Amino acid sequence: MTKPKPRSFPRFENWAEKSLLDLDTARREGVKIAGAFCTYAPLELVRAAGAVPVSLCGKKQDPIPAAEKHLPANLCPLIKSSYGYAITDACPFFAASDFILGETTCDGKKKMFELLQDIKPLHLLHLPYLQEDATALAFWMDQIQRMQTFLEQTTGQRVTRDRLQKEISVANRVRRLLAGIAFMASNHPIPLSGLDAMRVFESSSFVVDLPEYAELLETLALELTEMKALGVSVRTADAPRILLTGCPVGKGSDKVLKLIEDSGAVVVCLENCTGFKNFDLLVEETGDPFEALARRYQRIPCSCMTPNQGRFELISRLTRNYKVQGIVDQTWQCCHTYNVEAHGIKTLAEQTLNVPFLHIETDYSESDTEQLRTRIEAFLEVVAMGRPR
Ligand code: SF4
Ligand code: SF4
Repeated sequence: MTKPKPRSFPRFENWAEKSLLDLDTARREGVKIAGAFCTYAPLELVRAAGAVPVSLCGKKQDPIPAAEKHLPANLCPLIKSSYGYAITDACPFFAASDFILGETTCDGKKKMFELLQDIKPLHLLHLPYLQEDATALAFWMDQIQRMQTFLEQTTGQRVTRDRLQKEISVANRVRRLLAGIAFMASNHPIPLSGLDAMRVFESSSFVVDLPEYAELLETLALELTEMKALGVSVRTADAPRILLTGCPVGKGSDKVLKLIEDSGAVVVCLENCTGFKNFDLLVEETGDPFEALARRYQRIPCSCMTPNQGRFELISRLTRNYKVQGIVDQTWQCCHTYNVEAHGIKTLAEQTLNVPFLHIETDYSESDTEQLRTRIEAFLEVVAMGRPR
């Protein structure tokens, strides 16, 4: 039987496509559009300079063959898809972007940005790879200052403390609301599936009017609270509760999430950049807003950091708070940092958290779908028995 969905949920489905109209209006009013690829881009700064950020992260297989004419085939599909969209002019968000913000995260992305700068103006943020270190923070603050200068020159608007403070406050509100929506899955009943929750989280990457978007999230959160109180649940109480971690996923690159939920389990936590990595950390709203911004973004626990203790702490906390019964770590093929880190996450899951762990390495194609289905179903049987693999 089809489960009822929140009344406002259709607004979030196909959000990206619908937001194109708003982007077009903004452009006609002279607003600059900033194409961003990564969770490390401090978007509050972009908005404080009067620009609107959109995500250019490629999530579909279609543009990959075109990308492989320039890039090696054995490269992460996210990079190939993003680059393929850029060179084939097949992504309306790339077309709408006046400039690109890049970050020196993994090697493949760094080198892709060298190619992209021939297509669009590009500002590159150099990341420090240390998170709890004063010199790294000073370096990162300097990078953010340079980005501010670039934005001010591009938009002709000054980023004042007040403007930044205001954008930080709205962005924090959105983060709290997204975290509140995610928290609906912390116990039974669960009114929104992991797939639908992902659709909502993903919508936050394509927003022109952030305060208006926050209002809409607030409505959704209220509806979900009502549904939960009425006992509406997408799964029965005994459905395996899964945490999905690893590389970013989204509409078009969500086959593993779908397979997990099609097999009867529910993804109660999306730990990756589509989920908690994007909204778990808030920016301090007291003190210097520029430093607070730098501190928050420096702490994002991506595997490009070394060490990356924050990811281990986040997974541990989520496993406890969401009563997680199994962890699936999904890595895109040729993503070396997440692939290597999978060993440590496996050890954490099985030896410290005492939950079964499954590592899946895949790409954007559908060629391994049936093989993955078999592995996931076998894994969920182990989860149901409640023991590490
Ligand atoms: S996984 Fe790392 S590199 Fe990829 S979007 Fe997230 S923070 Fe950026
Ligand atoms: S998934 Fe991995 S290899 Fe791909 S862009 Fe992100 S960090 Fe880089």
